[in-house]
Amino acid sequence: GQCAAHCPTGAIVERDDVSIVWDALADPDKYCTVQIAPSVRVALGEEFGYPPGTNLTKKIYAFMRRLGFKAVFDTNFSADLTIVEEASEFVERFVHGKGELPLITSCCPSWTDFMEKKHYDFIDNFSTAKSPQQMLGVMAKTYFAKKNKIDPAKVYQVSIMPCTAKKYELERTDEMMASGFHDVDVVLTTRELARLIKQSGIDFKALPDEDADSILGEYSGAGTIFGATGGVMEAALRTAYFYVTGENLTGKAIDFESVRGLQGVKEGTIDIKGTKVRVAVAHGLGNVEAVLNKVRAAREKGEELPYHFIEVMACPGGCIGGGGQPYGVSDEVRRQRIAGLYADDRDCAVRFSHENPEIKRIYAEFLEKPLSHRAHELLHTNYTPRPLYKN
Ligand code: SF4
Repeated sequence: GQCAAHCPTGAIVERDDVSIVWDALADPDKYCTVQIAPSVRVALGEEFGYPPGTNLTKKIYAFMRRLGFKAVFDTNFSADLTIVEEASEFVERFVHGKGELPLITSCCPSWTDFMEKKHYDFIDNFSTAKSPQQMLGVMAKTYFAKKNKIDPAKVYQVSIMPCTAKKYELERTDEMMASGFHDVDVVLTTRELARLIKQSGIDFKALPDEDADSILGEYSGAGTIFGATGGVMEAALRTAYFYVTGENLTGKAIDFESVRGLQGVKEGTIDIKGTKVRVAVAHGLGNVEAVLNKVRAAREKGEELPYHFIEVMACPGGCIGGGGQPYGVSDEVRRQRIAGLYADDRDCAVRFSHENPEIKRIYAEFLEKPLSHRAHELLHTNYTPRPLYKN
């Protein structure tokens, strides 16, 4: 993306899928739905003169509805779904000894790609939970379509992401079509969304605040912080704590300060009623190796593992600093966007993914329970070693 902006001759043109979305919206045979990723809401405003970190969630919902989307969903909802599945996986491995530790997050497709090429000795450590983008798509084409008596073949899912790699994720494996349809049909980056808004002629700043559609729209504070480095870890720990103890964290204990901030590698120990969980968070792919090497060294020597749970995001700062976000990113801009997400978390009535009322409903009505047969079929994936160089 940055190359396209800086190419002196204009020979490198940024991929632009905006026209695909215009065509879909004009097609009477398509039932167009849309989802918006956590980090988009605190960065889009920069294209319209708002300071970085301004949370425009409700204006984006209103815009999507004006544009003709029949249902407006939120990736924050499915971030909660990813967390419920992933925290359950963590408990299976950590408490019941079923599966490899440390568990490693897999929701960043650039990281997943890098792992399959370079760090595939960690394949069994990867969470099999799909990313929030894919989970939202598959729920729209199964549960939502069924509930609203819509032909799933007509549901067309547009996804607004901070990320160019999310375009590639749509075709990553056959599991990205687990329902028989592509989970998601097209991805627009935040910059492409800004173009869509400008082309629409709609006065974005004058739009009122509106809510997302039910169901697949409601989110918890844990879902929204997915967009910042450390956020997935923090969200997962809040839920894992509940699964292990049967109690929710309260007060300041809800905020896991040790995994927040822009330091390249963050480490923390979380006390779950006497049991210590050791975690590491790396962002920026250059920071990953040191973390993985610590695990490799411990394995070789048969020593205790340095970590039980690792979060990795390819982009410095996490998705708020993604390759599809408005240009001009500095650490100061990253900090402001991150502050926007943590403010959203603080303001949420519900701070835990497992307490999201729509998440509870979707399990009661459709998925049964985390890691159920149906959840595995629709919400999980697998990984394959794809070494770049053969020895
Ligand atoms: Fe995409 Fe970057 Fe987020 Fe990974 S960290 S999902 S590459 S925006």
